[in-house]
Amino acid sequence: MSIDIRNLTPADGGSHSERPDVSFAETALRLGGKSVDEARRTGLIDTADDQVESMFAERHRTTASPIHRAVWERRVPTDLFHMPLPPMTEDVRQLTNDCLHVVRKHKRKGSLYNESEKLSDVVLAELGDAGYWGALVDKRYGGCGLSFQHFAPFLTRMATVEPTVAGLASVHGCIGAVDPVRTFGTPALKERYLPLLASGRRLSAFALTEPGAGSDLTALKTTAVLDGDSYVVNGEKLFITNAVPGRTIGLVCRIDDRPAVLIADLPAEETPSFTMNRYGLYALRRAHNNGLVFRNFRVPAENLLKPKVGDGLTIAYHGLNLGRIALCANAAGTMRSMLASMLPWADFRKTYGQPIANRELVQRRIGHLAGLIVGSDALVQWCAGLIDQGYRGEMECIIAKIFGSEAQKEAAVELFMKTHGGRSFIHGHLFGDNVHEFLAPCIYEGEGEMLGMAFFKSLVKQHGQHFFEPIGRILHEAGIKHPNLLNPGHLWKLQAPMAAYAKWMTGRRLLRVTRDSIAFMPADLRRHAEFARGFLSDSCFDISRMMRTYQLKLADRQCSMAQASSQVQDAVTMLVASLYGAKHECEVTAAAAEVLCTHLQHRIRGTRPTDKDFRRATELGNAIAEGGWAALHDVEQETILMKY
Ligand SMILES: Cc1cc2nc3c(=O)[nH]c(=O)nc-3n(C[C@H](O)[C@H](O)[C@H](O)COP(=O)(O)OP(=O)(O)OC[C@H]3O[C@@H](n4cnc5c(N)ncnc54)[C@H](O)[C@@H]3O)c2cc1C
Repeated sequence: MSIDIRNLTPADGGSHSERPDVSFAETALRLGGKSVDEARRTGLIDTADDQVESMFAERHRTTASPIHRAVWERRVPTDLFHMPLPPMTEDVRQLTNDCLHVVRKHKRKGSLYNESEKLSDVVLAELGDAGYWGALVDKRYGGCGLSFQHFAPFLTRMATVEPTVAGLASVHGCIGAVDPVRTFGTPALKERYLPLLASGRRLSAFALTEPGAGSDLTALKTTAVLDGDSYVVNGEKLFITNAVPGRTIGLVCRIDDRPAVLIADLPAEETPSFTMNRYGLYALRRAHNNGLVFRNFRVPAENLLKPKVGDGLTIAYHGLNLGRIALCANAAGTMRSMLASMLPWADFRKTYGQPIANRELVQRRIGHLAGLIVGSDALVQWCAGLIDQGYRGEMECIIAKIFGSEAQKEAAVELFMKTHGGRSFIHGHLFGDNVHEFLAPCIYEGEGEMLGMAFFKSLVKQHGQHFFEPIGRILHEAGIKHPNLLNPGHLWKLQAPMAAYAKWMTGRRLLRVTRDSIAFMPADLRRHAEFARGFLSDSCFDISRMMRTYQLKLADRQCSMAQASSQVQDAVTMLVASLYGAKHECEVTAAAAEVLCTHLQHRIRGTRPTDKDFRRATELGNAIAEGGWAALHDVEQETILMKY
């Protein structure tokens, strides 16, 4: 599903000049950017973001997150870039096996889908009996209470069997009603809903997007007005996954012109006050995705979620973080299926008298795909560990989302499709049948580049507040639109904040960055980790220079922001993947981490692979083609189509 939620405005009606603080982004937009209205909205979003932050203990907020510290502090907290997996408990093993068994059984029998080609109600019900829909619900409400570090790899395994089933666990458990109710529901609401949601008697969805409000959620129009003991909802939602009559939705709407979330039960069938807008959608073809139209639709007043701080934004933020990790976990499973089907095909298909598996180009694709899988696994384990420890984890989850969705897209088109050649397009082929499934994650849960900018804004926010906001405020108060440091009057006014900035810059340049020992890592991976750490700590200079250079126009320099953001993201992925590879017992996994890190390092530096790099990737591909890989141990291989 959606979106950079920071684009949702808690339209409180107040003009930004009434607010005591003026954020850097707001000042930038107001003085140099697109429009006053956009600036007002951005400022209000900043306020909402601060409210979300205040839900977390200081040590778990964005400024204490591994990425923020690695960039802005003098020590890269290397230990925080790897989160070991807690031991598997018997409960988790049982749940995993039971749920996988249900789906495998129906897949074998050909009964996974109904006559409309959607997952059948029987399968959904049997999954409920096996405990699937309650994986994240506390045991006291009939769920399994899994940690996210156990839940996420479970989704990866499920995705190797049926990615839509894995996706629905996230729609229901992360962004749907489960997370909002368990985190923000009153005790009465939890008692009423969690058992129903855990058993799957009520499956759920999250309804945020509207026809006129996707990336720009400030345009949300759906309203709810209190009337007696219920809210009366009017408006229209679009693209809502898992939303059909009889299900429960987290409905984002405006109440008194502020974003709010209502837990709404959709009636068992369409009524005059609730109708569906049906359309054909290429993606998510095994699940339902509909538009929802509400006309004077009533929701009990007690179904309004009331977070202790913030509003509907706070609730949406929370679930989206989890959904982003889940999306990456799903990609890790889906890419395993692609690789598992590439191997027998590469062995079978002969050209010029030789199996294509013997060819460098194909071996390199296999090696590179293994790297993408390990990168996704590493990010999932890391982010899930941070969430379980109580971190807000927003920037980290954005990286997992972008990496997972882009990796899956690249794997599908550049590696999988090309290797399967013309057969990719035959009906029944994994690629041809699912190409839209492989691409759509780049859009839902937030389009990648938009999220990349959101990542960047979170990364620079504190630095901007600390060093640039005082400058902006002075300029604003003095009515100076075009500051000129050669003007003594301007210089005099700005001397205090500029001295503070100069002090920070000198300190960072002169005092050495301290780094934890990583002597335990194998030499190749250690070199990558060293590079990533060095890049992250040096990036503070480039980022700060951007802020200095573009000053009040930074928010309009989207291309520069997107580029800087993706370089930091790549460096983070390198560090996380290299540590993961170094701590993994499987040599193939470590080699795949190395291949990925080499690729990312070239991308960051803008350099080309060397012969040695090609050799590493092709040797890895060859090793997997000949000897297999533990990461694929229970992944089913697709049948080779047209075996002649
Ligand atoms: C398969 C699928 C499932 C979905 N499931 C759900 C769901 O369950 N619940 C839900 O609420 N939503 C869901 N969505 C909606 C999804 O989250 C939105 O499609 C997505 O957020 C993008 O919104 P949009 O389509 O309106 O794009 P638009 O807002 O029309 O934007 C199009 C593109 O324009 C560019 N753009 C927009 N604004 C800017 C800007 N300010 N600066 C620079 N570039 C910009 C971006 O590249 C953006 O991707 C789903 C969508 C799909 C395809």
